[in-house]
Amino acid sequence: MRPFLSLNSFVTLRDVGLRDGLQSIQTILPTEKKCDWIDAAYAAGVRHMEVGSFVPAHLMPQLADTASVVAHAKRYADLHITVLVPNLKGAERAIEAGADALLLPISASAAHSAANVKKTPDQMLEILATIDSARKSAGSSITIDVGISTAFGCTIQGDVPESEVVRIAKAAVDAGADEIGLADTVGYADPAQVKRLFTKVQAAIGARCRTAHFHDTRGLALANTVAALDVGIRYFDASLGGIGGCPHAPGASGNVSTEDVVYLLVRMGFETGIDLDRLLVLRKQVSQWLVNEQFNGYIWRAGAAKSSAFLHQ
Ligand code: ZN
Repeated sequence: MRPFLSLNSFVTLRDVGLRDGLQSIQTILPTEKKCDWIDAAYAAGVRHMEVGSFVPAHLMPQLADTASVVAHAKRYADLHITVLVPNLKGAERAIEAGADALLLPISASAAHSAANVKKTPDQMLEILATIDSARKSAGSSITIDVGISTAFGCTIQGDVPESEVVRIAKAAVDAGADEIGLADTVGYADPAQVKRLFTKVQAAIGARCRTAHFHDTRGLALANTVAALDVGIRYFDASLGGIGGCPHAPGASGNVSTEDVVYLLVRMGFETGIDLDRLLVLRKQVSQWLVNEQFNGYIWRAGAAKSSAFLHQ
């Protein structure tokens, strides 16, 4: 029996391990292994993946092969491929590569934005507008997805005003963004804050407020996931094996692990289209490729519950 089944019971997970996960660890995963990862994730039912980013190779050698990885992912017609881009140049490369969506991060923390990209949030909004123009003049149907990073707090400036997150979300939609996500980049969010902030952003921009992106740095990512579900969010980022960590917090875990979120959702009666057993096999495989890296999460240790919920995924 699945108690929460309704028209609204499907939840989309976007695995971001190939970008958010790999960019924060030392090991450089060879292109063919990334392609194997995509194949296995697809076979497990994953249909949304963030597979890399178009940033200068010298800044992020782990993701220098993103164009090749996108080319491989495109063999699956119904695999929705996202790439992160920091600027217009990256967006042009994403359009050329044929990605389905480009993710432009805009930090709600002025201090984080200055430290990370040496730009103010408003300068990033101007870049967004130039990306929207470039997409139009290229005749591209690529989706522009803005991820509002440090939306729940920042390691440099501490609190981030909720009014600033709402202002950026509105301005981003006005500048051409199709979808907005709220990202807990440093793992500060709590469930009450998640409900409050998503509700405010939904009031401002409606259904364009789509994605929740949680890190499990302080152990609250699953609780935050439930809170976001409660206010109607049905699209979540997660990383296979919870890889990633945070360079500023040694030993801290990274993105919430995809396996754990699938487990949570299936237990609660949501549909994900993802086969948890196959995902766990992939996690094991990836852990053998990244032997010196830290993996996180719970379900891989204990396995799924013996429950009818897991019989016919
Ligand atoms: Zn992240």
